[in-house]
Amino acid sequence: MTDKRWTKANILGCMIDLVTMEEALEVIEEIINKRKPSHIITLNAEIVYSALNDQILREIINTAQLVTADGIGIVWGARRLGYKIKDRVTGIDMVHQLCRIASVKGWKIFFFGAAPGVADLAAQKLSMQYHGLKVCGCRDGYFNDQEIEKIIEDIEEQSPDILLVALGAPKQEIFINKYKNLLGVPACLGVGGSFDVLSGKKLRAPQFFIKFNLEWLYRLLSEPSRFRRQLSLPKFALKILKKKYFGR
Ligand code: UDP
Repeated sequence: MTDKRWTKANILGCMIDLVTMEEALEVIEEIINKRKPSHIITLNAEIVYSALNDQILREIINTAQLVTADGIGIVWGARRLGYKIKDRVTGIDMVHQLCRIASVKGWKIFFFGAAPGVADLAAQKLSMQYHGLKVCGCRDGYFNDQEIEKIIEDIEEQSPDILLVALGAPKQEIFINKYKNLLGVPACLGVGGSFDVLSGKKLRAPQFFIKFNLEWLYRLLSEPSRFRRQLSLPKFALKILKKKYFGR
């Protein structure tokens, strides 16, 4: 989104809006009021690293209406490159904030993604926390190509104001980019593994890890299978340092 209210950071070719959570929520409210289908991405270093060699993914990121810094890697990288960035704006925190505001404003939310039953459970838990929350639909994220048309019809029929897509990145970003205009939903957000945590199926990192920006370490310790994916983090850091000291 081109907006003079804040700067954009160029992190290895991906443009990131240096917004606070409050600013991000204001933008989303504007998007919902205007009703123009929009893509909101909470970006992490793994995805930026994948986008280095994936022009299509880079274009998806750079044409999204709002891109926030989800991971500490992005915040670290932005600071190394000289940008002023206050804090992370994570997908899971954004879901909480949006549910809080939606319960007051009457916005409808559709939960799409994660294993069967998980989206329903996350929606139930959030409805208990934010009274009056209008959940207009839930659907798991395991489907084949033949089912996509029906999924789109179901979402469209409920006309949500917000669509949370928890298919993991970059799958969710590709889905939103491809179908947002057909769906006609104003605020489409990729929220990664958030439903797993919101439903209680997985634990979010304890406060210690969050406070010291070590959520990535907690995820690695609790899910060692992520090791391969997380190998991109040191490579991302090297690229940032190369950019800082050698300009390339
Ligand atoms: N997922 C899904 N459909 C798929 C693949 C993954 O719904 O085809 C879900 C998966 O069940 C999990 C989420 O997407 O809930 C991905 O979580 P992960 O923590 O890997 O995502 P990240 O936050 O790292 O993007």
